[in-house]
Amino acid sequence: MNNKDIQILITDDEVRTRQNLRDILSEDHYKITCAGTLAAAKEMLAKKFYNILLVDLKLPDGSGLELLKETKKINEETLIIVFTGYASVESTISAINEGAFAYFQKPLNIDELRLTIKKALKMQELSLENKDLLSRLKELSLKDPLTGLHNYRYLRERLSSEFKRAKRYILPLSALMLDIDYFKSINDIYGHQYGDLILKEISQILTTAARGIDVVVRYGGEEFLILLPDTNKEGAIMFGSRLLNTLTEHIFDSKANKIKLKASIGICSFPEDSVNTESGFLDAVDQALRDAKELGGNKLSLFKNLNKKDITAMLKQGGEENIHKLKQKLFKLEHRVRQTLLESIYAFAKTIEAKDYYTGEHAENMVSIAVGIGKALKLSESGIANLEHAAILHDLGKIGIPDNILHKKSKLTKGEYDTIRKHPQIGAEIIRTVHFLNEVVPIVLYHHERYDGLGYSAGLKGKEIPLGARIIAVADVYQALISDRPYRKAYSKKDALEIIKESMGTHLDPDVVKVFLANLESEKSGAKKYVKKS
Ligand code: GH3
Ligand code: MG
Ligand code: MG
Repeated sequence: MNNKDIQILITDDEVRTRQNLRDILSEDHYKITCAGTLAAAKEMLAKKFYNILLVDLKLPDGSGLELLKETKKINEETLIIVFTGYASVESTISAINEGAFAYFQKPLNIDELRLTIKKALKMQELSLENKDLLSRLKELSLKDPLTGLHNYRYLRERLSSEFKRAKRYILPLSALMLDIDYFKSINDIYGHQYGDLILKEISQILTTAARGIDVVVRYGGEEFLILLPDTNKEGAIMFGSRLLNTLTEHIFDSKANKIKLKASIGICSFPEDSVNTESGFLDAVDQALRDAKELGGNKLSLFKNLNKKDITAMLKQGGEENIHKLKQKLFKLEHRVRQTLLESIYAFAKTIEAKDYYTGEHAENMVSIAVGIGKALKLSESGIANLEHAAILHDLGKIGIPDNILHKKSKLTKGEYDTIRKHPQIGAEIIRTVHFLNEVVPIVLYHHERYDGLGYSAGLKGKEIPLGARIIAVADVYQALISDRPYRKAYSKKDALEIIKESMGTHLDPDVVKVFLANLESEKSGAKKYVKKS
């Protein structure tokens, strides 16, 4: 601290002492203020912070001890040095007991006083720094560094006091838990850093939507909790629906990527939900959120308090059988919904194919090659289904590429090529929100990666590239080679196979190519046998 910023208040009834001290201490560039009475000093202390108070114990309108106590009350950081005009052991002891930093007997030893002031200031600086650090540390330990929202630890502290308050005064208290749907794929498609940006933006939206008394918490990775004091279930539902609307309508628009998000929300309220403990309350809101996810996400769900007794009663009434039937029904329904959704996405993909390829069989051939490889590699049933979806959907993103680029006969400019390279990302973005295609997203996203790491969208290398994407790459390259392209005629199958063999280990995964070649071989011999037979 600069001496010019140091405020010293001298309180002494003797004009000469005051004047003397002012002159001497001014040489050290301190800011000096003087008071001749207890009353005047009190008034000054109330107006601003003084680093040091020099006070004579004997004042015309009272004792310096009184001023000492008063000063400690106003700001305990002010350090006090007392003067005693006579050698009174008692009053000196009292002064020290009241927290005086040092005492001097009159006549004053000026050199010693100057030194003591310096020591006092040093100590004060350390103490102030410590205090500041402590409060910053406290704040940091209760805040989430990425979003600046409160963290879980803070929530536990606040929940405890809010819960007590709610119980004592019979006030309502609600909590809302929110989890972003398919957030993992945002990271997969755009990278973790972009994911972080989105999380920050979401935090802003939540803070803006909440009232001043609400507590907005980053509960986990992309899970948020908002504690709503004095809010009953009805109010929480209104707030939650509004929030879900705002969030899903919001266009996240940074780094040239425009995306929308969906989210799921769970709600729980005291006293309506008869949850009487803090952890029970958190479990309940978490349960409500899981229900929203299970219903397919993009939804708000309320906590359903099914206690053990209710469940036993349900089971007694033949509930077990009902539950089984219901599950089967749901399964069928879900299957139908998937089928319809798939059909419409496939129809959509067909329009892309029409845009890009002139034969109508590209997708079908892709499926048969990719599934053939998957089966030979003994992938699971769902792994094979994913390959099938990916084979049909891999070029979906070409919907976003202008026809003049897609159909250009001459060499592409760098800009045009960059545009084409975006199609895996666009495709992944389109299917990102379809829950059961979640595992297809990385296959679509990485189907233009090369085994040697020179491909796009992320430059993944070797086995870093998901297996599905390595399989689709082989099928895609082969299919492209044997098709007419805008800039060249189709290769013969024989030439195409030569090119495929040459790209083992550079463009394509040699292990996958081997399986592909073996499949072709066995197909050929199978076909021959069949011809012979007939
Ligand atoms: P669901 O619809 O089931 O919620 O799917 P989800 O992909 O959102 O999956 P889940 O909630 O289980 O996983 C959360 C993901 O959020 C995992 C991780 O990739 C991502 N995530 C968690 N914390 C952070 C973070 O601090 N930054 C970024 N960028 N991503 C995070
Ligand atoms: Mg999520
Ligand atoms: Mg999550």
